[in-house]
Amino acid sequence: MRLISLLNQYQHFPGFVYEGARYCTASQTIEIPVRPRHGSKPVCSGCHKSAPGYDHLGQRRFEFVPLWGFMVVLLYTMRRVNCRDCGVRVEEVPWGIGKHQLTKAYMLFLAHWARKLSWQETATAFRTSWDKVCQSVEYVVKWGLEHRQLGSIAAIGVDEIAYAKGHKYLTLVYQIEQGCVRLLWIGRERTVESFEQFFAMIGKEVAGQIEFVCSDMWQPYLKVIRERCSQAIHILDRFHIVTKMNDAVDDIRAGEARRLARDGYQPVLKKTRWCVLKRRANLTDGQRFRLRDLLRYNLQTVRAYLLKEDFQQFWEYESPTWAGKFLDEWCRQVMRSRLEPMKKVARTLRRHRELILNYFRARKAFSSGIVEGLNNKAKVTMRKSYGFRTYHVLETALYHALGKLPEPNVAHRFF
Ligand SMILES: [Zn+2]
Repeated sequence: MRLISLLNQYQHFPGFVYEGARYCTASQTIEIPVRPRHGSKPVCSGCHKSAPGYDHLGQRRFEFVPLWGFMVVLLYTMRRVNCRDCGVRVEEVPWGIGKHQLTKAYMLFLAHWARKLSWQETATAFRTSWDKVCQSVEYVVKWGLEHRQLGSIAAIGVDEIAYAKGHKYLTLVYQIEQGCVRLLWIGRERTVESFEQFFAMIGKEVAGQIEFVCSDMWQPYLKVIRERCSQAIHILDRFHIVTKMNDAVDDIRAGEARRLARDGYQPVLKKTRWCVLKRRANLTDGQRFRLRDLLRYNLQTVRAYLLKEDFQQFWEYESPTWAGKFLDEWCRQVMRSRLEPMKKVARTLRRHRELILNYFRARKAFSSGIVEGLNNKAKVTMRKSYGFRTYHVLETALYHALGKLPEPNVAHRFF
């Protein structure tokens, strides 16, 4: 079967003809000249309607999906139209958009791989440039955002994430209900203003139907949720509380390790960081031994660790009432402990008691590991982000990885 027959079968554009395929030895490229079918009218790029031809421009090269390690380009002499509404304009061609050098099929192809590999790896694998991979992802994301259906939203989770070496924050809003888990929105900063833009985007009606909101204890988020989603059950998620408690234990451990070293004691806290932060079930054998060893000492770290472990029980409760009693008792104990970072956690938990107990009121309706999973995925995307030079590119990458955006329809998917 000839190359052209294949193309005609899977990538046929009405009004255009593939003239043939030739191999160019110098550039190791397969060149495929394309011409308009006789009598077909060009389409105006301004209004997307057909219009009488005006003149011709120079020949353009459109990169197509590579074949057997050879570059494939479509060669086409662009026409200009004399449109009644738009004046003299360049024509629109179905395989390309605007001034892009890549065909839509090739951009979809690259964007598809850029979700599995890093952008640099994608560029290397297909002997193209990082910039062209970036353009491809931008095209797909832009198309996806324009064509996605928000529909009704029952549950959202909001989270902040640090970027640019921890000095700047993004606000990420996810949809977190069964059957639909996706990144809905990205905002700069983590302020009241930025989070409110999300509600501006979805509109009052959709916001009014949200039943569950899951967030951490960041004040601006709490404020916006109170105002914009007053009908929803607001849940302070388990993941966020566990994170806070781990931070407190880590603080105590680091401070105590420094003090012990300064006062010339045995370095018993050395290499214990993960022993006290990880769940007991996830420890390696070595870590389990270290932990057992550590627990023999009367250290602040040990006391903080035991309080944290004790709190695990909290999540086992079924009834909000009993969970509430446990929470109160745990906080009372911590407040007597003289472990300042843990006391800070207890004070926060007391302040948000009702929101935390919502976790038990809502637990049947939704699973709480979702936000944590999405958050990790977002971090991985950023870590692979070597070369994300601007905020805009980072935003594009996150939507691409987590947005579950629709993709342009194509007759044939190249892979
Ligand atoms: Zn026009």
